[in-house]
Amino acid sequence: MNIIEYMEKYEYEQVAICCDKGAGLKAIIAIHDTTLGPAFGGVRMWPYATEDDAVTDVLRLSRAMTYKAAAAGLKFGGGTAIIIGDPKKDKTEALLRSFGKYVNSLCGRYITTQDVGTTVDDMEKIASETEYVVGLPVHLGGAGDPSSATAYGVLRATEACSKNVFGSGSLKGKVVAVQGLGKVGSALARLLYQEGVEIVACDINDEATKGANRQFGATIVSPDEIYDVDCDIFSPCALGGVINKDTIPRLKARVIAGGANNQLAEDDCAQMLADRRILYAPDYVANSGSVIQLALELGGHGAEWAKARIARIYETMEQVLARAEADHISTAAAADRMVEERIHSVRRSKRIYR
Ligand code: NAD
Repeated sequence: MNIIEYMEKYEYEQVAICCDKGAGLKAIIAIHDTTLGPAFGGVRMWPYATEDDAVTDVLRLSRAMTYKAAAAGLKFGGGTAIIIGDPKKDKTEALLRSFGKYVNSLCGRYITTQDVGTTVDDMEKIASETEYVVGLPVHLGGAGDPSSATAYGVLRATEACSKNVFGSGSLKGKVVAVQGLGKVGSALARLLYQEGVEIVACDINDEATKGANRQFGATIVSPDEIYDVDCDIFSPCALGGVINKDTIPRLKARVIAGGANNQLAEDDCAQMLADRRILYAPDYVANSGSVIQLALELGGHGAEWAKARIARIYETMEQVLARAEADHISTAAAADRMVEERIHSVRRSKRIYR
């Protein structure tokens, strides 16, 4: 990959390559945009096959974070870090502290938190070298695992979509197909169950499906059958790229709203969904509950503040849907347009000497 060319094309600010042989650290920190505030985003630890794969991932994820933070109405920009390595074998205190030193060297331009392959306990180790880290354990004054907050935001986005499509924000009696019963999917299933939803679910993990069947009366189907389920709402809560040219023709749902990141395999899938009159809740709007929850640590806000802000994902979704209708574009394009307008308007504001 030609990094600088890519950075110019999508207006990235900075990419820092970090190497500490003694600690075994190979990391990349990408800062996409800090117009709205410091770049905020997780640190992912993954055994990338090639350096190109790692660079591509960190660039893609950091740009997505700019959109997610902006859509959530937060005063943060977008950034992401990746550590190249196997989290099960290569993670040590020295490696995490070394990463913390690099984060600190950016003087607050990037604030880190957990992501795939990193945990709240890892954040505690990183915090011994930098103050620019959130998602600390609750006993250290942190917000802890944000998965329940993510699930609550997905519920609010689903309600807004339901109001638009079915005429009522109530989900009672609706059939929702939940793909993935991990931290977000199981928390969402609990909320849906409490709302009187009929749940159909799948996971590759038998323990997770047994639990959902026992606790929420979920009907369990195989991971492949989930796309064919006769349901009102499809909720991807596992992997990215699951909405694609093969799966779209199979879906019977009229709404897609879930917690997974990067649900659309390609940009034109958004228009394919619109053509099939399936309403898609843009993933970074629906799953922004986690960044809102983590922001409470940075802003010194309380849990009530976060809950009220997450509940407002309903109104944000309504605005996205209204914009899509008004501009005759897909919901994904409408969300992008709204976010870009917010960033550009702040960027244009007059610089005041102080
Ligand atoms: P998780 O690892 O706890 O759960 C993922 C679940 O998906 C696991 O139970 C796994 O067994 C299952 N799964 C994997 N492949 C599957 C398949 N082919 N079919 C069905 N199930 C499958 O992760 P999570 O934290 O719940 O995150 C889920 C998704 O939500 C991810 O895309 C993540 O990036 C996104 N997300 C999570 C948060 C959060 O707060 N945790 C916030 C924003 C976005």
